Amino acid sequence: MSYKKPITVLTPEFYSYGALLIAGLIQKYGYDVKLQKGFDEKIESDIVFISLQSTIHLLNYIEELKNMDAFTIVGGPVTLSPELILEFLPVDLVVIGEGENTIYNILRVFENITNPTGTDFKDMSGVAFKNGTNTIITGKGSPASLDGHLSMVPNNISSENIRGANVYLETHRGCPGNCGFCGVPCFFGRKVRSRPLKDILKEVEHFLRNGAQRIAISGGTGSLYGSSKFKNVDDEAFVELLREISNLTGPKNLTIPDIRVDLISDDILEAINKYTNGWVFFGIESGSDRVLKHMQKGITVDQIREAVDMARKHNIKTAGSFIVAYPGEEEEDFQATIDLADDLMLDDYFISIAEPIPGTDLGDEILNLSFEDNILFQKSQKYAKHDFSIAEERALDLMMESYIFRSYPVPMTQALLKNLIDEVKSQGNHIKRVTELIKTPIKR
Ligand code: SF4
Repeated sequence: MSYKKPITVLTPEFYSYGALLIAGLIQKYGYDVKLQKGFDEKIESDIVFISLQSTIHLLNYIEELKNMDAFTIVGGPVTLSPELILEFLPVDLVVIGEGENTIYNILRVFENITNPTGTDFKDMSGVAFKNGTNTIITGKGSPASLDGHLSMVPNNISSENIRGANVYLETHRGCPGNCGFCGVPCFFGRKVRSRPLKDILKEVEHFLRNGAQRIAISGGTGSLYGSSKFKNVDDEAFVELLREISNLTGPKNLTIPDIRVDLISDDILEAINKYTNGWVFFGIESGSDRVLKHMQKGITVDQIREAVDMARKHNIKTAGSFIVAYPGEEEEDFQATIDLADDLMLDDYFISIAEPIPGTDLGDEILNLSFEDNILFQKSQKYAKHDFSIAEERALDLMMESYIFRSYPVPMTQALLKNLIDEVKSQGNHIKRVTELIKTPIKR
């Protein structure tokens, strides 16, 4: 295989940090790389790395991949279930889990073999491929070193808008939390590995030089940066991280999106107030201790209330994410969530129907739950005219409530109500398709 043509790294919908990182890495290994967003442009490369973020991508891009005349390699969070990828997508190879080490090995194979097939990678760990009708999985790749990373930044990064930021920049990997719906600990492990601060700052400068302005930092739950043990947050490391990034971006342009209610302190909240845009985003999920326990969230409703109070004392705006229709959520659990959302009067709310990510505990639970017993597929009487399920009914009820009881009430106009109904319908359809997909019998 010749390397006259650049290798393409493709990201379907937005410039995910993972795709930028892989492109930077391939460049560092000495190859020409082209970064491409979306499938509109014709692919001219012999090798294409595709970074897929969401299970729904396995259904959305089948035709595009069928028409691709290149050796196609899929990586990213969807690789928690390589069998599903190979069942649905016509791709040559899947890189399982963290890809840094595996990608280097893959490129070495291309140096020596012309027109390889999946089986040429059988002696390499961390990949999966089809051999006839069989799926071969060689295990999980080894965790990567996080030192010395420098992403490739596209020249139109300033127009990227990922929930308000141009980029979600990685500060650490892994989360010792055990939330059943979350892919972070499954993908990156439960041990926190933090990037050296000097590398992060160099990368922030690199993004800013290339036009980025608004930077969010991500890595599971923000305040775990630098910590070695769960519940033993390294306040100093996190405060230093915020202070130093903020020196480069300015506080208004720095966001710290996710934080656990049990991983805050006065020092952390003071730093968020001083060095960021002043918002904190708590994973609240439910107002029922029973459901929180079932989710393995590891927090209680009392801790949620205390955390919101603490954030307010530091003049920080609080947003909360809620998950409805988790398996086992009864009507009284949902009512407890409504009551909590009303009491908290947050500044913003994000409400989702439980999405089963393959490879997580929730994914397994939904796999074993029949369609008849899943409230995502049970008809709502209340919103029969919208053809809603009970899960969609709960999402809409909580969304409507959240507009009435937020810190500044928003009038429920016809236009807003229509938006919420559309949002719920879209979420419901998406998660129904994902549920049907993960329940498809596949040959393993
Ligand atoms: S939801 Fe947050 S705290 Fe829970 S496992 Fe995922 S990253 Fe960790």
